[in-house]
Amino acid sequence: MANGLERHLQRREDIFLMGRELGRRSRSRCELCGERTSLEIVEVPPLPEDPDPDHALMVCARCRTLVEGGKRKGGADDLRFLCEAIWSELAPVQIVAVRAMRRLSDEGVDWASRALEDLYLDEAIEARL
Ligand SMILES: [Zn+2]
Repeated sequence: MANGLERHLQRREDIFLMGRELGRRSRSRCELCGERTSLEIVEVPPLPEDPDPDHALMVCARCRTLVEGGKRKGGADDLRFLCEAIWSELAPVQIVAVRAMRRLSDEGVDWASRALEDLYLDEAIEARL
């Protein structure tokens, strides 16, 4: 039986290995906003038992806070790239984008509410939101 530290180290190792696949998938651009900058691997909660590319993204520092649901720096208008990301065919991109857009909509950001009105979501995605 692996102890907590071993499990933690194993997960970090698995995430590192998953990074190669995410590197290819992202083509070295932030998978949410498309910027070419320094990128990091972020797992999209809720976390699967084992790290899984379908539950992870390669993102820039700004978009990392979107994935983690942290407090946003800067104005909502900097996040208009989400209008496109909510239509992504890549599940983790779409999920994070829709979550972030719903938060914006709750804040009263008009363009976010309008974009969400037009959005069609697959049931499988809706279940993961
Ligand atoms: Zn980004």
